[in-house]
Amino acid sequence: MSNNVLLKAIPKVDKLLEHPDFKDLSKKVLLPLIQHHLETLRSAILSENITTFDENSLREEILNEYQRIMTPSLQKVINATGVIVHTNLGRSLINPESFDKAKEIATSYNNLEYDLEKGKRGERYSHLSSLFTKLLDCEDVLVVNNNASAVFLVLNTFAKRKEVIVSRGELVEIGGSFRIPEVMKHSGAKLVEVGATNKTHLRDYEENITVRTRILMKVHKSNYSIEGFTSEVNFSDISKLAKEKELIDYFDLGSGHLVDLPYGLTHSEPSLQEILKDNPSLLSFSGDKLFGSVQAGIIVGKKELIAKLKKNQLLRMLRVDKVTLSILTADIENMLLEKYEKIPTLNMLFKEVSTLRNNAQVLVDTIKEEVSSAIVETTTLIGGGSTPNKKIPSIAVSIEIKNYSPNKIQKLFREKNIIGRIEDEKFLLDFRTIDMHDIAYLSQSIKCLATS
Ligand SMILES: *Cc1c(COP(=O)(O)O)cnc(C)c1O
Repeated sequence: MSNNVLLKAIPKVDKLLEHPDFKDLSKKVLLPLIQHHLETLRSAILSENITTFDENSLREEILNEYQRIMTPSLQKVINATGVIVHTNLGRSLINPESFDKAKEIATSYNNLEYDLEKGKRGERYSHLSSLFTKLLDCEDVLVVNNNASAVFLVLNTFAKRKEVIVSRGELVEIGGSFRIPEVMKHSGAKLVEVGATNKTHLRDYEENITVRTRILMKVHKSNYSIEGFTSEVNFSDISKLAKEKELIDYFDLGSGHLVDLPYGLTHSEPSLQEILKDNPSLLSFSGDKLFGSVQAGIIVGKKELIAKLKKNQLLRMLRVDKVTLSILTADIENMLLEKYEKIPTLNMLFKEVSTLRNNAQVLVDTIKEEVSSAIVETTTLIGGGSTPNKKIPSIAVSIEIKNYSPNKIQKLFREKNIIGRIEDEKFLLDFRTIDMHDIAYLSQSIKCLATS
């Protein structure tokens, strides 16, 4: 065909836009795609790169690109890594029943900041504090957007242009570059590092107290442990010293939890109740680490200190919304009733190895015709900055497909949104974190990979 004939055959933008293939699509996304494709086609014809084109394949290309753009980037994945509180995979799962309660509140008007009794403005934080103080047996509680906000708010409220003493061994950086020294700098508090990386003694805190000191702070070493010639000061001793000197003692706990941990981890990581026995001035932790609820920063402490935090203008920027508050309230109700099985994170943590083995067997049975697989005993991590380097037992299914390398298999699974791990040159699906509702999808995906 000659150039001119080809140019005339280019479909009109409006015509394409109305084509039945493109029915119900977003015109806002579609229009620039069509324009771009037609422009490219015109240039190719003019520079004589092509001598013919097919309108059907043109539409198909446009449609494919449209679908790529419109596929949501945030997607469900199957966590087969075994790491329960996996920060990259969304941390703690929310209990669906709590989510349903939140849906009812959030899709209706509600009394978020309305006092139903007095008929006037109420306080958003009041909905939680009565239940939460009973759960933790503490004076008062405040909830903010996440634990990083909690640390920031505490330091800014009580130690702006003043000094905070922290052990050198606790100046942590947590994934996503949350660094205690940086947060402190932005809060306006001056960091006074004491002790050495491996050893800090109570006298290191004591000797560095000046007239400018406001807080003695302890930070949980969430993602590392120091082994060997080490010593750190217990929070209860820091607490006592702070009280003696009329300072605030504050523990950034990272991952607070309510129940004693299984597999002998109780000692390496005391529960909230245990720490609260020392009656600390302030304590904060994440809502979506081992606590097992929604993303939030939970600050627990003395009534008069929490009242000061509430007066800080910054709270307006760090405040939580109705969805967070309702989910947290529903979860706390379950915790008060000791229905821990309704907290997905705790449910996974406490699953017996024999249950994991039975679950793994269900998958193996459905795929054994097509794929070479085996049940293996393994260990995994709780994750989320709790119990660093401490392993808990688990059961996994190792998968071999053709003579692919473990890396190749891992990548193929990833394309199906299944995230596993490699151990001893084998690709593993760890059952500590696999939900039985996902077995059918897993089995179907594995068969598909094995036969394609
Ligand atoms: C995780 C963690 C934080 C940050 O908490 P987010 O809820 O992720 O903001 C702060 N301090 C410690 C010790 C932590 O482990």
